[in-house]
Amino acid sequence: MLPSLFISHGSPMLALTKTPAHAFLRELGRQFRPDAILVVSAHWASERLLVSTSAHPETIHDFGGFPRELYECQYPAPGEPELARRLARQLNAVPTERGLDHGAWVPLSLMFPEADVPVVSLSLPTTWSNAELAELGEKLAALREENILVIGSGSLTHNLSEMQTEGMPMPAWVGAFVDWVHFRLEADDRDALQAWQRAPQARRNHPTPEHFQPLLVAMGAGGQARRLHHSVEHGVLAMDVYAFT
Ligand code: ZN
Repeated sequence: MLPSLFISHGSPMLALTKTPAHAFLRELGRQFRPDAILVVSAHWASERLLVSTSAHPETIHDFGGFPRELYECQYPAPGEPELARRLARQLNAVPTERGLDHGAWVPLSLMFPEADVPVVSLSLPTTWSNAELAELGEKLAALREENILVIGSGSLTHNLSEMQTEGMPMPAWVGAFVDWVHFRLEADDRDALQAWQRAPQARRNHPTPEHFQPLLVAMGAGGQARRLHHSVEHGVLAMDVYAFT
């Protein structure tokens, strides 16, 4: 059975820059052959839960100030309207047409470069409690038995205002939060993770919660966590990837 995944997508330049996380995601995709992918991205925040029924989701370049090459990237994976409509019923989500934001297409373009696996996007209801987000994940767990890969795409740490020159060492306030999450996940301490805002340096690493919240959904959708990857970009963006088996 497929695991659920939490993927740190970092900067959109991950699509083009051959960092350790870029290389890792290319490798990771080779391990799976899902029939479809369900992705919850930090970049589709909503109040109510929404699900995209697009048959041909467009590639959304939802960022500014990057090289032209990045805007020319296209990820033409099909949608799966039937699955999306079923999820809308099961989850009481609102069906809508929506493309793939960079939290979805950047990692998927590395994992499944042929863009031949259908992708359904579910929004991130950012006002939901941590427990509600984990429960949403629990409702998605059964998809794993249907060979559907459930992905939460965010960033283990995400303070863009403190980004540093590439190659700078990870500051202690980033490491403290990364380690806290890692040990709580290893211990499968879901209660602590559902109170993650009380972790050391949580606010500094996540001035806003949307890049951490997809981890709660991925956690809810799977069992024991295993860290598959750890690296840091720009000093403060932990690119960790977890599988929940
Ligand atoms: Zn992001």
